[in-house]
Amino acid sequence: MKKLLLLLIAAGAVTVSCQQKNEASNPLLAEWETPYGIPPFEDIKLEHYMPAYLKAMEIHKAEIDSIVNNPQDPTFENTIVAYDISGSLLDKISPVFSSLNSVNSNKEVMALAKELSPLTSKHYNEISLNPGLFLRIKSVYDKRDSLGLDAEQMRLLTEMYKGFERSGANLPDDKKEELKKINGQISDLHLAFGQNLVTETADFKLIIDNQEDLSGLSEAMINAASERAASDSATKGKWVFGLDNPSVMPFLQQADNRELRKTILLAYLNRGNNNNESDNKEIIKKLLDLKTQKAKMLGFETFADYQLEERMAKRPDAVYNLLDRLWKPAIVSAVRELEDMKSIAAEEGLKDVLEAWDWRYYFEKSLSKKFNLTDSQLRPYFKLENVREGIFYVANQLYGISFTLMENVPLPHPEAVAFECKEADGTHLGILFMDMFARPGAKRGGAWCTGYRSQTYRDGQRVAPLVSIVGNFTRPVGNDPALLSLDETETMFHEFGHALASLLKNVHYYGVGGMTRDFVELPSQIMEHWVFEPQVLKVYAKHYQTGEDIPQELIDKIVNSGKYGQGFATTEYLAASLLDMDYHTLKEIPAGFDILSFEKQALDKRGLLPQIPPRYRSTYFNHIFTGGYTAGYYSYIWAEVLDSDAYQAFVETGDIFNKDVAAKFRNEVLARAGQDEAMKLYVNFRGKEPGIDALLKNRGLN
Ligand SMILES: [Zn+2]
Repeated sequence: MKKLLLLLIAAGAVTVSCQQKNEASNPLLAEWETPYGIPPFEDIKLEHYMPAYLKAMEIHKAEIDSIVNNPQDPTFENTIVAYDISGSLLDKISPVFSSLNSVNSNKEVMALAKELSPLTSKHYNEISLNPGLFLRIKSVYDKRDSLGLDAEQMRLLTEMYKGFERSGANLPDDKKEELKKINGQISDLHLAFGQNLVTETADFKLIIDNQEDLSGLSEAMINAASERAASDSATKGKWVFGLDNPSVMPFLQQADNRELRKTILLAYLNRGNNNNESDNKEIIKKLLDLKTQKAKMLGFETFADYQLEERMAKRPDAVYNLLDRLWKPAIVSAVRELEDMKSIAAEEGLKDVLEAWDWRYYFEKSLSKKFNLTDSQLRPYFKLENVREGIFYVANQLYGISFTLMENVPLPHPEAVAFECKEADGTHLGILFMDMFARPGAKRGGAWCTGYRSQTYRDGQRVAPLVSIVGNFTRPVGNDPALLSLDETETMFHEFGHALASLLKNVHYYGVGGMTRDFVELPSQIMEHWVFEPQVLKVYAKHYQTGEDIPQELIDKIVNSGKYGQGFATTEYLAASLLDMDYHTLKEIPAGFDILSFEKQALDKRGLLPQIPPRYRSTYFNHIFTGGYTAGYYSYIWAEVLDSDAYQAFVETGDIFNKDVAAKFRNEVLARAGQDEAMKLYVNFRGKEPGIDALLKNRGLN
């Protein structure tokens, strides 16, 4: 017996020392001795994540315990600040993994994400429902008026208190347990939805082996399709088109073969709706049901009410009010465009009814007829590196800041590049990574801005942010550089706007560093106003071969054609936004709830044209079914009301780079992030609340 005990102890000792060795050699747990503390991406292996996550959660838990068990009375410092900075190791590790999972994923990474998701969601759930922690926060909250807090501290405290309340900290114990379970299920379903979408997007291939079927497609499209085909011996020598946006959208615009356009569009529209193992319909139903239950438990009628309480909009009627006001002019304008499409289709010999797979194709023809402007005419002036220079130019004109390419720093992916951002006086502001090319199967679709470290202050010192923008742009083919479409160019300005908000933020606590979902698109969308301003185009839109400035004639066409197609664009966007709101304002989800018929009804009752599918159909509506934009897809147009109105502040001075207006925008909006109610920040900047006229005018819907 004694012997066995000894053996066990010895075994135990071995395990411990072995684990310590692993910890010491795990780069995720080491100090990062890299320039500016950039994550040492190249040193991190997949097997490092799980032990690092477990260790970081253990440390976070210990930090929480020490707040809860502090023998001193709760104070702002020992409770609110201590909680605000807790979990820093976990905050350091998670963005590295979530970046890997979004930009360089594979089956193993996906499997690990699936394993980690329930662990982290359980971890955060336990903290947000920790009764001892909530009691201490509440105790500080209850005496908040006698603490002599400044405005930012008061905001941190009230938001923190509200956050706990919204997470269920005030619920009785049995309900708390139920909520934990629901949250865990929701986060598993989010992950499953997203992974199904990646699989469904990557699995479909439109293989063309007959050269005639390539008719209409640009040389760049054909080359890209041929390169894609070459990567697989089964398709070598053929052409492969996929469902990622850079492949499918130009195909729909250019391909003369109507049957193939139909095939690829239907495949695109039916992602997650193929009754196979990657089908998302049951997942959506379960998600809606769980979210409705959650909202009810927390005292809200619907999940939308729960979500919106925290946003600028506050109530579902405010959202519907805006969407409904825009719907009518959008449809009127779309019908006008449809007439154009029909007449050009008839001229081109289409005998059939014009269908959804015809719209983008004839729109391109109509566009080129009206404005004599084609995508391939424009792309040579929008080399990615030139667009980037244009973006940096605008930032420099507005805020005096500069960006310098960095060599020899760790990168999140070999295709990414890094820039140092500095104030006019040379002060370091932060690092910006850019990773812009599509990598089907490895990178999730779309474009986004993320980061590895948020701005804050620690011991009186500013902590500089590490920010990253990611895209799925047309990659360089052969010897040609990456030549962007106007849409991609605009997207790059957009994501950079988010990055600027992170780089120029100046808050003292993590808890006030975020903007609400419907405010956060203001900094990004306002950047889109500069992108095609003639005086900006002249700076960056240069021919990639000759270096010549974009001709004035093309600038005029870009400006004039900008509003054409807004009927379609606004309608498809509003349709998706309304679908989102309709789902999340449901009071209950009946047992026989059918996703497809609900979707159809929601769109039919508003008179959506059959030729215009919503920008996202339910089964691949990642924005709303995997988290961030639930009852929040409206945010883009909500923010567009703000950005259109805000841009007017520059225009009204007669100088789109007016330094005083820029300084005010930086100081009152960008720097302050979540330090106050969004509408207050906006009014501080603009002097009044925004109206929708500027938006209608910009979109040509007035
Ligand atoms: Zn955005």
